[in-house]
Amino acid sequence: MKIVGHFVGGKEIEGRSGRVSDVFEPMTGEVKSQVALASKAEVRAAIENAKAAQVAWAATNPQRRARIMMRFLDLAQRDYDSLAELLAREHGKTIPDAKGDIQRGLEVVEFACGIPHLLKGEYTEGAGPGIDIYSMRQPLGVVAGITPFNFPAMIPMWKFAPAIACGNAFILKPSERDPGVPMRLAELMIEAGLPAGILNVVNGDKEAVDAILDDRDIRAVGFVGSSNIAQYVYERAAATGKRAQCFGGAKNHLIIMPDADMDQTVDALIGAGYGSAGERCMAVSVAVPVGQNTADRLMDKLIPRVESLKVGPSTDPSADFGPLVTRAALDRVKGYVETGIKEGAKLAVDGRDFRLQGYENGFYMGGCLFDEVTPDMTIYKEEIFGPVLSVVRAKDYEEALRLPTEHEYGNGVSIFTRDGDAARDFAAKVDVGMVGINVPIPVPIAYYTFGGWKRSGFGDLNQHGPDSVRFYTKTKTVTSRWPSGVKEGAEFVIPTMQ
Ligand code: NAD
Repeated sequence: MKIVGHFVGGKEIEGRSGRVSDVFEPMTGEVKSQVALASKAEVRAAIENAKAAQVAWAATNPQRRARIMMRFLDLAQRDYDSLAELLAREHGKTIPDAKGDIQRGLEVVEFACGIPHLLKGEYTEGAGPGIDIYSMRQPLGVVAGITPFNFPAMIPMWKFAPAIACGNAFILKPSERDPGVPMRLAELMIEAGLPAGILNVVNGDKEAVDAILDDRDIRAVGFVGSSNIAQYVYERAAATGKRAQCFGGAKNHLIIMPDADMDQTVDALIGAGYGSAGERCMAVSVAVPVGQNTADRLMDKLIPRVESLKVGPSTDPSADFGPLVTRAALDRVKGYVETGIKEGAKLAVDGRDFRLQGYENGFYMGGCLFDEVTPDMTIYKEEIFGPVLSVVRAKDYEEALRLPTEHEYGNGVSIFTRDGDAARDFAAKVDVGMVGINVPIPVPIAYYTFGGWKRSGFGDLNQHGPDSVRFYTKTKTVTSRWPSGVKEGAEFVIPTMQ
């Protein structure tokens, strides 16, 4: 059986720790490969390699760095189908959805192709007598990304593309559950002309993560995963003075105002609630109809749609969604459904007993729909990360606004309405980082930034867009004065602009 190693110094190398983890194919439930789990010493070796390569890379002009990104885009297009199939087989999402995962990552690579423009500094002529001031953005050195299982192409690209374009060397620690695509992306970057050592992949678990967090040569860490680990990574990274941006879990609400187009709303809930089996940080997991009448109309349309969702293997192009990532994830989600029933929510659609003929060992479940969920229930408070949608009935707009605002997560939220006034008020007041108006998954496009609030995001600055350039560079400001501007004699008073 293949053991996926690490990618260091421009090539795949074998793991030497003696520790491995199984990589499943969720649609069949079979172990198809294993992945090496890096030791602290292996992580250190990768960092040393990166550190040595980074100096010349930082000195490579930004246009040449951008050209490598452009070539990578072409190579990714060439290999699109095989990447999507590998992704779907390791993750469980359908192939069309896997293509979306890749595409969303490539869009950030496209953004990074603009790096010559993005890195331009500021200049002020004549800030004082003979004084000019300019600022420049310089790379940090070696930086790292620690990424989750649910977007094994998109999130690694969100991290490494801007970081590398800025002139840093990168250590990627992808999820040990689906390491295949991140390894292929690293190979493609080398094929595109990236010098060896600039993009490295160390596979592993907590040991590799801790080695990255404690290493003083790593200057910044971008993390995406569950909130408790995000907070842990944030705090431990800060202990060695690193920059850290750590994005966590979510509980995304979709508010349905009485005037919303109900057919469009139901389409939105079906796609955003159950697509990718609900394993998206921007999945809608809570629907909030405003008023009993809206709620009843919603449920009348929603129940038959959830009942008729098509669950299938990742390779079935007609499936709405595929299996969950592991048996443990499946058991966890089913456990939440049990808890919801015990705590008094009304299970309107029960997909727990779904079985797929010919794929009996796959990690499947059908869509579940809860009605009459209340804010004190576990299934409302916690992220389920599965194909389970909870309906919380709000009596009025104020209550609907309060729910996502008071929830401990603050990743995404949407409002469906024809009332521009309500939408505007909602967007301004809701305490959540990304807002959709009649848009169910408000993931900002690559040249805006992505980031949640409260327990969905620890640290400063968002991912991709202009914030990514700020995060992966440090600003140097130069104040210059030439002899024609120098007054006679020493100055003992602090210079001001008076
Ligand atoms: P996870 O927290 O289990 O793992 C994320 C990363 O942390 C992985 O690389 C993993 O190896 C590592 N890790 C796991 N346990 C660790 C530990 N104890 N110490 C150190 N490192 C550890 O998350 P996941 O299950 O892979 O991904 C799903 C989660 O990610 C969900 O909560 C989802 O909402 C979140 N997510 C958030 C965003 C966002 O932008 N906010 C995007 C995608 C996913």
